Amino acid sequence: MTKNTSSTQEIKGDISIHTENILPIIKKWLYSENEIFIRELVSNAFDAISKRQKIASMEGIDCPENPGIKLSIDEKEKTITISDDGIGMTSKDIQKYINQIAFSGAEDFIKKYKDTDEKNPIIGHFGLGFYSAFIVSDKVDIQSLSYQKDASPVHWSCDGSTQFSIKAGSRTTVGTDIILYLNDESDDYLKPATIKSLVRKYANFLPIEIKVGDDIVNDQNPLWVKEPSSLSDDDYKAFYKKLFPYSQDPLFWIHLNVDYPFNLKGILYFPKVTSEMELNKGQIQLFCQQVFVTDNAKDVVPEFLTLLKGNIDCPDIPLNVSRSYLQNDPYVKKISTHIVKKVSDKLKQIFKKDRESFEKYWEDIHYFIKYGLMTDDSFYSKTNEIILFNSSENKATTIQEYLDRNKEKLEKKVLYCSDKDTQRSYVDLFKSQGLEVIFTHTLVDSQFLQFLEAKLDGVSFVPVDAEISDHLIDQNDDAEVVDPDTKKSASDDTVELFKSILQKESLTIKSEKLKSDHIPAMILQSQEARRMKEMSAMLNQSGNLPGMDDYTLVINQTHPVIESISKLAQSENGHKTVEPLIQQIYDLAMLNQKPLSGDEMNEFIQRSNKLLVQLTQALNK
Ligand code: ADP
Repeated sequence: MTKNTSSTQEIKGDISIHTENILPIIKKWLYSENEIFIRELVSNAFDAISKRQKIASMEGIDCPENPGIKLSIDEKEKTITISDDGIGMTSKDIQKYINQIAFSGAEDFIKKYKDTDEKNPIIGHFGLGFYSAFIVSDKVDIQSLSYQKDASPVHWSCDGSTQFSIKAGSRTTVGTDIILYLNDESDDYLKPATIKSLVRKYANFLPIEIKVGDDIVNDQNPLWVKEPSSLSDDDYKAFYKKLFPYSQDPLFWIHLNVDYPFNLKGILYFPKVTSEMELNKGQIQLFCQQVFVTDNAKDVVPEFLTLLKGNIDCPDIPLNVSRSYLQNDPYVKKISTHIVKKVSDKLKQIFKKDRESFEKYWEDIHYFIKYGLMTDDSFYSKTNEIILFNSSENKATTIQEYLDRNKEKLEKKVLYCSDKDTQRSYVDLFKSQGLEVIFTHTLVDSQFLQFLEAKLDGVSFVPVDAEISDHLIDQNDDAEVVDPDTKKSASDDTVELFKSILQKESLTIKSEKLKSDHIPAMILQSQEARRMKEMSAMLNQSGNLPGMDDYTLVINQTHPVIESISKLAQSENGHKTVEPLIQQIYDLAMLNQKPLSGDEMNEFIQRSNKLLVQLTQALNK
């Protein structure tokens, strides 16, 4: 134990902890993150400077106008010195704050984590503080001169064991030097470039000059602590570029600025997403009083919001506790709820006040909004009215607007097309009958529509190629004439004819009188078959699931080609004549559904050419 004597006299003593081998255990835990000593020591230096500034403003003590932190590297001696113009420490301070508090922090840490198997049990490692210096050092010295009147400089030295010494120090100005005698594994930290990049990583936004050698390396301009009303759009964009130099301009942003009932500041940017691949590239940096803590804000914001970019500064979050603790912490939950609410408010605000811009943003933000709606119930209940779909009416529409416009014709049905390019003719068919179709995104919407169906009472989403809506069938026509001998109608004959020529087992063939004579035939796929197909795609299966290739061919009995084919088929050699025509009709219908295989395509092209020859010859007659 220490004796309390004046600082000019050498003191030797034992640090009051009981775990002798504390260092190896801590080293093991922090092995992959040993660089955090920079964060801890620079934060301590910053705190010491802030304290001095505060005391200066209250008690009028002497304080440099531009205090700063300087890191100096001595490659020969293998030392790094972190110097500050802070309040400094007396011998007593060191014994209290370093010998007892800092080391007992380390001791607590060991007690907590010694027996856990949890990998990476802590996020911030805060509270370990000063002790982290020993992760990279064989020996640590402190040279300090306190701001207090008549204080004398002190020199503390410790090799990481429980032994330390304090004697007269050599500092002539108020402040502290922490001198690290690096161990053999830490040579990398002797490179100025390494130290510079670490200072930038952890302390870029500390509002004070930090030098490595003679270069100022930090930015000092944390935009998020400023008043939102004092900032222009360009300020926000410029700051974004600083954080994410290779990104395009953000779409818009939310400036979080809460003092009560908790402390939270930050700026969340909605990035421009140019492909689904980029969805995972969100990055929310977590800060604690402007000191960088982690890139991984997963435990503080709901998962869907980790697709955003920016930073959150929460001074009060208990960063030195385990993840599972954090996830269950009511305080963290409150912060998370607040962020969700802010995001929701911002989206609704743009949607209501500037629908045009919102529609433009939608292409970039719809993925994570939908993901958020599906995964976060409170977000859904706050935000569901802003979901947009493009529609065949050349506009973006919400489901409610669609239902209101179409309630007479469709009641609570919503017609949708998941592939605008290949299903064009289906959409045209509906459009020609005055029916509106919404366009969906294949990947995310297959799940999203199912989710919406469950949420929206009675609303059903019907793919344009799943069933023939009654609106497309001519109901007024009289019933077909049935042959008294064969008991078959003309439609039945057509179906038989197509069946015998196409010879496809998994193909159901029907004949309908469609109102439109747009197309002679179309392929439909049942909801079940479609789900099978989506499932197979999602599971990335190469084989086929049962039923996923089951289709229905609907022949349009009113189309002139079908009428002609029926007549032709009855003539001599008729079967042979109509065969290529029927194959062609089938391929054309199929092309609206999926690409033809190599062989099928080849056959289709050859047949098309033959038919062209026949057509030109007929035209020449
Ligand atoms: P924490 O910073 O979490 O309190 P640390 O172990 O990092 O824990 O530091 C313990 C204490 O030592 C600090 O609270 C502070 O009083 C003192 N201290 C550490 N570094 C300095 C410094 N550079 N200048 C003045 N005081 C310091």
